[in-house]
Amino acid sequence: MAMAMADSRPPPVHSSVAGLAWPGLASRHGNNLLALLYQLERSQWWSPVQLRRHQFRQLTRLVSHAFNTVPYYREHLRAWGIDGRWKLTPQSFAAGLPIMTRAEVQQGGAAFHSAKLPEAHGKTGDTFTSGSTGRPLKTVKTGLSEMVWQAVTLRENLWHRDLRGKLAIIKIVDGTYGDYPAGGEYENWGRFASQVFETGPSCMLHVSTKTHEQVEWLLRMDPDYIYTLPANAQALAQYCLAEGIAFPALRQVATFSDLLRPEARAACREAWGVPVADTYSSAEIGYIALQCPDSENYHIQSESVYVEIIDEAGRTCAPGEVGRVIATPLHNFAMPLLRYHSGDLAEVGECGCGRGLPVIRRIMGRTRSTVTLPTGEQLYPSFQDLLIDFAMVRQFQIRRFERDSIEVRLVVTRPLTASEVTAFEAEMHARFQYPFAVDISYHDELARSDSGKFHDFRDVYSERDGDDR
Ligand SMILES: [Zn+2]
Repeated sequence: MAMAMADSRPPPVHSSVAGLAWPGLASRHGNNLLALLYQLERSQWWSPVQLRRHQFRQLTRLVSHAFNTVPYYREHLRAWGIDGRWKLTPQSFAAGLPIMTRAEVQQGGAAFHSAKLPEAHGKTGDTFTSGSTGRPLKTVKTGLSEMVWQAVTLRENLWHRDLRGKLAIIKIVDGTYGDYPAGGEYENWGRFASQVFETGPSCMLHVSTKTHEQVEWLLRMDPDYIYTLPANAQALAQYCLAEGIAFPALRQVATFSDLLRPEARAACREAWGVPVADTYSSAEIGYIALQCPDSENYHIQSESVYVEIIDEAGRTCAPGEVGRVIATPLHNFAMPLLRYHSGDLAEVGECGCGRGLPVIRRIMGRTRSTVTLPTGEQLYPSFQDLLIDFAMVRQFQIRRFERDSIEVRLVVTRPLTASEVTAFEAEMHARFQYPFAVDISYHDELARSDSGKFHDFRDVYSERDGDDR
């Protein structure tokens, strides 16, 4: 493995990452990150029993911290029958603590924030998760949980690609520096990868750029790797397949954020002859699983998150069974989420690669799709932060059934006023880059499809009629 160790003394394998200092000098951070990465390089090969033992050592710290310093948990302990004699085991954890939904965490607000944080965990920061199945949720994280996130990001890179290659990132970009036609161009792969490794160059474009313009940009950039959202990867592959366009240097497509459909994998292979490496993460939880370097399975990132996959009766699913994904991030002491339901379903699997990290065969979760505009142009409409200005909206689902209109289904705490409707329509026109007529309706709840997927947007019109207009 091409890993440059800046510090030749390896960390003790049994040390807890929770003891690491943050934030420090840049070099100190780089060293800490490398130490953590070195530990991850080893622990992936641990046996399931060994992994579980270390996980529960960290979980014990997290749970006692939550019970002592987080108002929500303190208030509920008695009702849950948890007292001084309670001992943490996989069984008592599942039996004693209820599953927490996103709505409950939203409602609880600051009651989920710790009143007293260990100093070594560093400064806290807020992130807002986009609201596809609910209102935006504010998550508080620590320097330590951020560093664990960075280490797993580096693990994903080491598992899947040569960091000396050129990386093209097509995602939601704040500000204008990812705007077509120039996009952004950088000497390396980003601030933390470049602290630890010598990387190749990277470039960045906003994902809402029209598909044919993205392709034109990619031809100019000539990347080894494309890193983007699954639906966008699929749209690019299908466009290139139809037009006979190849990217000569391309070795792999990496996807993140939304659900990767099997069709997207197939399209990338067919269009460019390259595999897809997918990651499964959420803004509240962080990384949940990474695709195995040796197969299309996913390995749960047990060093940073405790994941239960359970059926309707609460039983742990066996390989081949599908259940709810319940996650407990192990290092976020600022806002501990114990047994948090991601809203996704997953099938438990088995992998022959030898890693001890538990396996997910497939994930059924949130999914989004591109739109083909009446002009024939295609783009990936971004709904990130859509609900920040519309606090009365709890959930939304957008469908296009007709050529020139879209249907917006809303779950609200109160209906929108006339001026709010106008503002919402303007927002839709901006995000679709097209003046669709907007038809708003109100609902008590929004259902998932039969397959368990939640589509926040679907272009039913183009799916039905094909894209050959
Ligand atoms: Zn594997």
